[in-house]
Amino acid sequence: MNFLEARIAKDGIVKEGNVLKVDSFLNHQMDIALLDQMAAEFHQRFSNKPITKVLTIEASGIAIACSVARCFGVPMVFAKKTKSINLDGDMYVAEVDSFTHKKKNTVIVSKKFLSPDDHVLIIDDFLANGCALQGLISIVESAEATVEGCGIAIEKGFQDGGWRIRNLGYHVESLAIIESMDASTGAITFREQEA
Ligand code: 5GP
Repeated sequence: MNFLEARIAKDGIVKEGNVLKVDSFLNHQMDIALLDQMAAEFHQRFSNKPITKVLTIEASGIAIACSVARCFGVPMVFAKKTKSINLDGDMYVAEVDSFTHKKKNTVIVSKKFLSPDDHVLIIDDFLANGCALQGLISIVESAEATVEGCGIAIEKGFQDGGWRIRNLGYHVESLAIIESMDASTGAITFREQEA
């Protein structure tokens, strides 16, 4: 087990509806030393890429993305969720279905902060059906910038987002991939990954 898998096994709580709660170290209270360790791992895995920006989606991706951006010495940009339907032309816009809240969000990034010469590393806390990642990828591509890869803390391997996005040719690195989890027993099993 790697450090994140061990922490999930210790403190993660499996809820009904295929939801893993990691509120005590990632999604509400945050263990900053753990975030920094995750960021160092992403930095190492994408060290051969010419990253100029780290992109995430509010809110829970922001803390990890900050730490990753610090490792690369580049800015972090987060896609904002907005209720406004009167969006002007200064924004890149994507529609994202929220897995945890079961609703659609419009997310925006100002055109000022992504340009065609950017090489973007996308970071998020979870990968489930892949909607958040697909929205972020479409924003990068609207800017004609390059998606260098996607770094995910926890991928739920029994949902098909990871499979779909890798199948589209994107480089996805997940620090922990959950193979299965059971709300009735609390059991969590991880997919074996190369060290
Ligand atoms: P997707 O768009 O891939 O279906 O879901 C990814 C987004 O939904 C993430 O940004 C994350 O905030 C949220 N999410 C998906 N599954 C879980 C889960 O099991 N637990 C938590 N805490 N968040 C999740």
